[in-house]
Parts: sequence; C-alpha cells; structure tokens
Amino acid sequence: MKERIVIIGNSAAGIGALEAFRKHDRQSQVTLVSAESDRIYSRCLLSYFVAGAVREEGLLFRPDDYYRQMEAQVIPRRKVELVDPAGQQIVCDDGTKLDYDKLLIATGGSPKLPPNIPGDVEGVFVLRTMADALAIRGKLESARNAVVLGGGLVGMKAAFGLRKRGLAVTVVVQSRHVLSQMIDAGAAELVMDKLGG
Ligand SMILES: Cc1cc2nc3c(=O)[nH]c(=O)nc-3n(C[C@H](O)[C@H](O)[C@H](O)COP(=O)(O)OP(=O)(O)OC[C@H]3O[C@@H](n4cnc5c(N)ncnc54)[C@H](O)[C@@H]3O)c2cc1C
Repeated sequence: MKERIVIIGNSAAGIGALEAFRKHDRQSQVTLVSAESDRIYSRCLLSYFVAGAVREEGLLFRPDDYYRQMEAQVIPRRKVELVDPAGQQIVCDDGTKLDYDKLLIATGGSPKLPPNIPGDVEGVFVLRTMADALAIRGKLESARNAVVLGGGLVGMKAAFGLRKRGLAVTVVVQSRHVLSQMIDAGAAELVMDKLGG
C-alpha cells in the first residue's frame, strides 16, 4: 500500500521537505495542508511588497503547476487544529479529517505580541503573512507615522518598507541595540546611522 505522507505548511520548510522527499520517493501519496493559500511565496520579500518595490507575483518562488509537478495534493485555507498521533489523523478547523502514515509539522513561527497589546484592533498589525502585508498596505494611504515594535530582522525590514512609503517611522527596541541577535553594538551603530536613528 502507498504510504500517506501529510505535511502541515507549504512555506520554505514544507516545500523544502517535499522536494527532498520526492528525490527519493515518487510513489507515496503526499498531501500538504496550509492555513494560507496554495501559492508559495517568500516571507523574506514581504517588507519589499509593503514598500511597493515588489508586486504580489514577484513574491512567488514556485510556479502555479508546482503541486502537479511534485505529484502532491494541496489543501489550502485549512488550519490544522488537532493532531491525533494514536489515531494517525489530523483534524482541520472546518472538520476535515486526514489520515496519515507519516506527518511533518512545518508550521513555522508566529509573531509574539507583547502583553496588553491586542493584535486585532484598528491600526495594529503584525507582519508574517501575505494577508498581514496586504492589511498594512491597505492602511498606507491614510497613515503618516508608524511605530515598529522590535528591532530584529523583521522589525528593521518592516521599518525600511514603511520608510520607503514616506512614513515617519520610530523603531522601539527592548534590547540594547537593533539587530541584537545578529550584530554587535558597533555594527548596530552603523545601521542606526544609515537609518538616521
Ligand atoms: C517579514 C519577514 C521578513 C523575513 N526576512 C527574512 C530574511 O531576509 N532572511 C531570512 O533568512 N529569513 C527571513 N524571514 C524569516 C523566514 O521567512 C522564515 O524563516 C521562513 O519563512 C520559515 O519558513 P517555515 O516554512 O519554517 O515557516 P513559515 O514560513 O512561517 O510557514 C509556515 C506554514 O505553515 C502554515 N501553517 C501554520 N500553522 C498552520 C496550521 N495550524 N494549520 C495549517 N497550516 C499552518 C502556514 O500557512 C505556512 O504555510 C523573514 C520573515 C518575515 C515574516
């Protein structure tokens, strides 16, 4: 019997795993389940999309017929809510159930909101998905100022994108300097100088 492989997530990790897997096995039945659409886009480019430097199509890093080429099924816009390891089954938010022989969870990360900061109020955004980037873009016309919480890679890229749109941007950083997990204080100085901070 063909093995049933299920991958949750169709972003960098899920797609990388699918491609590695298919190098060794073209027989097994592979299904990807994603909370987002079936389009495979780069989150790394989202800030450039916010900046208006890249169009939506430019974010895609695999062609439209990708799943056919890979002989894989995709179930988009379904959030997996339950994994039942004993029953080897996953359950999605619409009640869809899927049996598996092997399961790979490639669901990535999610933005960590500081306590007391609601994520679902007018004018407060996170930047993780295409939907987040579209929501930010939808606000650009009426916005003049932006406060970015977090001076890590995503925060700095978001600040850059918003600055490119002409907004006055303030970056609030909890650690001693921006990009604290990547560079030292001296290098951070150079970045801050460049950004006019
Ligand atoms: C704005 C931004 C800029 C970035 N810039 C860079 C950069 O310049 N360089 C760099 O190296 N990295 C960058 N990163 C980080 C990089 O994008 C991530 O490391 C990478 O996307 C991780 O891939 P992943 O597949 O592990 O997870 P993700 O890309 O987060 O994908 C997770 C997948 O799982 C799905 N999923 C999640 N939960 C569920 C669920 N319950 N049910 C079903 N599906 C689910 C999602 O829909 C998605 O398909 C950036 C990230 C962001 C947000």
